[in-house]
Amino acid sequence: MRGRQPVCRTWRRAWVGSYFPHFGEEDCLRGWNGSGTIFFSWCNLRCVFCQNCDVSQQGAGREVSAEELAHMMLRLQRWGCHNINFVTPEHVVPQVLEALAIAIERGLRLPIVYNTSAYDSLESLRAMEGIVDIYLPDFKFWDPAHARRYSKAPDYPEVARAAIQEMHRQVGPLVLDPQTGLARRGLLVRHLVMPGGGGGHAPDHALAGARGLSRDLRQHHGPVPAGA
Ligand code: SF4
Repeated sequence: MRGRQPVCRTWRRAWVGSYFPHFGEEDCLRGWNGSGTIFFSWCNLRCVFCQNCDVSQQGAGREVSAEELAHMMLRLQRWGCHNINFVTPEHVVPQVLEALAIAIERGLRLPIVYNTSAYDSLESLRAMEGIVDIYLPDFKFWDPAHARRYSKAPDYPEVARAAIQEMHRQVGPLVLDPQTGLARRGLLVRHLVMPGGGGGHAPDHALAGARGLSRDLRQHHGPVPAGA
């Protein structure tokens, strides 16, 4: 953390833009009391189409200690949320782990959702193994030229494919509670489709079939919920 300003603009402590019960997520996450969402400020991408650029690219929010972050999780649990949903956590994995240790010690029992652009390092994902219950990655671009143009990250397709494989290795296909319909564990991919095919997006079978991923990947067709 010394030296040059990191792309994510985050240092020792995480920044949080907001936290609240989110009713805009997929049914299996929002349920009837909402998904306990914590939006982290800053991001490791710079997407031109970002819905939350005030938070992701201008840093709206405030710096929080591990104690404060744990307190937010416990409040969301008290409010009846069905899960803790970390939005854009790629650049704050150490801070999230530090806070989770406190929150779990104090009674946090909800499933953990990792809601990400999929531009994650394997090192970060492996640090979350056994802690994340539900991975919720975007898959934004299949074509490096589009990834460079729209998110300034030409290696996005390669990084995201490896990240999603690692997520699937950890948690497997999505499992819903048969009584409630709530997600309990697994991988849920949001495959973004850009206007005019601008993402160079992969056909469904190409993403699902690539390198052993389950074909039971679920997708949300419609406006992308606020978040990563
Ligand atoms: S990854 Fe998501 S949060 Fe980050 S800039 Fe892109 S759209 Fe915004």
